[in-house]
Amino acid sequence: KTVTAEDFDVIVVGGGPAGATAATAVALRGHRVLLLEQQTFPRYQIGESLLPSTVHGVCRILGVEDEVARAGFKVKRGGTFRWGRNRDPWQFSFALSPRLADPSSFAYQVERSTFDAILLDNARRVGVDVRENCRVMGVLADEERVRGVRWTGPGGEDREARARYVVDASGNGSRIHGEVGGSRTYSDFFRNIAVFGYFAGGERLPEPNDGNIFCAAFEEGWIWYIPLRDDLTSVGAVVSREAPAGIQRDPVAAWRRLVDACPEVRELLRGVAQSTEAPYDQVRVRRDWSYWKSTLWRPGMVLVGDAACFVDPVLSSGVHLATYGALLAARSINGGLSGTLDEARLFDEFEVRYRHEYGLFYEFLASFYDMHQDERSYFWKARKVTNVGATELEAFVELVGGLASGDTAFDGLEEAGTHLAKAATELDEAVGRLPDSDGLRNPLYESAGFRHTFQEGTILQERGLLGGPLEAETPLRPGGLIASEDGLTWLDAN
Ligand code: FAD
Repeated sequence: KTVTAEDFDVIVVGGGPAGATAATAVALRGHRVLLLEQQTFPRYQIGESLLPSTVHGVCRILGVEDEVARAGFKVKRGGTFRWGRNRDPWQFSFALSPRLADPSSFAYQVERSTFDAILLDNARRVGVDVRENCRVMGVLADEERVRGVRWTGPGGEDREARARYVVDASGNGSRIHGEVGGSRTYSDFFRNIAVFGYFAGGERLPEPNDGNIFCAAFEEGWIWYIPLRDDLTSVGAVVSREAPAGIQRDPVAAWRRLVDACPEVRELLRGVAQSTEAPYDQVRVRRDWSYWKSTLWRPGMVLVGDAACFVDPVLSSGVHLATYGALLAARSINGGLSGTLDEARLFDEFEVRYRHEYGLFYEFLASFYDMHQDERSYFWKARKVTNVGATELEAFVELVGGLASGDTAFDGLEEAGTHLAKAATELDEAVGRLPDSDGLRNPLYESAGFRHTFQEGTILQERGLLGGPLEAETPLRPGGLIASEDGLTWLDAN
């Protein structure tokens, strides 16, 4: 009962931020794009706290920044943390970036159902053929390359579509990521589990930080507190996967108990009821995050977003990595479709840059976890970089060690361990120098790890705002490619 296959330049699987970004950035160059999404939007998704690079960089390049601004999302100026040596909460504000003037020094806290629908509608508007309620079941491939997908339509009918490139943006539950080859490595260090739900309100931090994400460490792990609206707060507990928190048996009871066990968050929620508004009336659980693929492409197919990699959510990096990776992939695809550069060179550029960005966040997050000290706590003792086991160090070396970026190339496990410990100490010292209010120079930027981690995001923001980076972009490695003026394809640096 298969009908004749349709033909496209590109097929994107999944309509989340990664899929919508890849599809839009390819369609903006005039190519024919089919996007297949298995659900009907708006749909629920976790991952509500954004970074400025997504809002002012990617959204601007996609032409959707103004619409996102009009949606009325809570403005997020930064993060407030009860974390590390200091018992008092401290904040880090995007505005303290020494390189960027005020207009782009904020992000949003978003209801993902609304945010993702805005991005997907924008994809439609620029010409992407978006079809919801269509589930991709597998890919069409021969020895040479991937050539399309098999999918099931809204009425259960089997369909096929062919294209030069297939983009897997179908999230952490992707059923086709294995088609590019390689394996998914799960991190031991971030072996966490999250249980999360919503409250119908809650106290806000004092202005101007009332839109900040608040992350509070406690004995069993840490809690996020994200103000979405005056009458809606996202609250999630991140604890050890092995800890007997009772999450599997009774998620609702475990969630309430964990929220109560964190004094700062308990205080903010005193007298506030759980939300009864769908889809926020449920308590949900997610495990098995922090993983990456050893291969991110093969001829005819690329992985982006959670289908490719994901790292612990404490720094709100998920949507940034997803949309950034999707933009990198779109540049390679646009280059491949125009035939100006060799395909392997284009997609190696995508893979090297994406892995580099992921590796920076991974290392930064390991240092960030290492900062918190609680000698009694099983959770925090297991998250000291000095306790990282050989398998995890090997994975780390494989992840970042091969990169030709100067300070992240090491020879062996011992050197990698020393490197991680040094990065953690440096970050801890920088946070120790943080002023407890806004308005001063940001000592975090004196830490190399912090600077490097947010460097690509900053370049992306500048490109969105000014049409290009403040300083001429340089290739990430010798012989590498650089982004075109519109940010939509790669150019030879010479
Ligand atoms: P998704 O948003 O998962 O979209 C994938 C889409 O593909 C879905 O719509 C799905 O329906 C569709 N799909 C799946 N399979 C198929 C198929 N076979 N055919 C067709 N369609 C299909 N990130 C942040 O930036 N900030 C945060 O504060 C944050 N907090 C988080 C907290 C937790 C506990 C977790 C686990 C993650 C958090 N994240 C956060 C990460 C964020 O959720 C993800 O990184 C982000 O949603 C990835 O976007 P994506 O487009 O890759 O995938």
